[in-house]
Amino acid sequence: MNDCLFCKIAAGEIPSTKVYEDDKLLAFKDINPQAPVHILIIPKAHYDSVNALDETSAPVVGDIMLTAKRIAAEQGLDNGYRIITNIGEDGGQTVKHLHFHLIGGVKLGEKMC
Ligand code: AMP
Ligand code: ZN
Repeated sequence: MNDCLFCKIAAGEIPSTKVYEDDKLLAFKDINPQAPVHILIIPKAHYDSVNALDETSAPVVGDIMLTAKRIAAEQGLDNGYRIITNIGEDGGQTVKHLHFHLIGGVKLGEKMC
């Protein structure tokens, strides 16, 4: 049985506040927002993280980036925003399904870590 939280959200088994959806991707609001705009963009297919990608699956990241750009424009983030993906324990990844944080709506701190 797939016990992955974001797979369940992608399947509609756990509710989310959807921002965008197509056949491959889903974007929804982060349940614990770190900024006025905090949206998670995920592939519907399960990959643990960037580390699980290969030459065949890597194009999903390009799709996610273009989707992030469109969502950012729709959200009015004309002055900039940040896209983050955490990988593994030291990267602070808590949900082991590839996801990108789209964060903005405020002047973000300069510190990266
Ligand atoms: P990360 O720490 O990079 O793995 O990010 C996981 C993110 O998922 C965190 O920002 C959480 O707030 C968010 N999150 C956890 N559960 C949910 C949920 N049910 N719906 C929306 N966001 C969630
Ligand atoms: Zn998953």
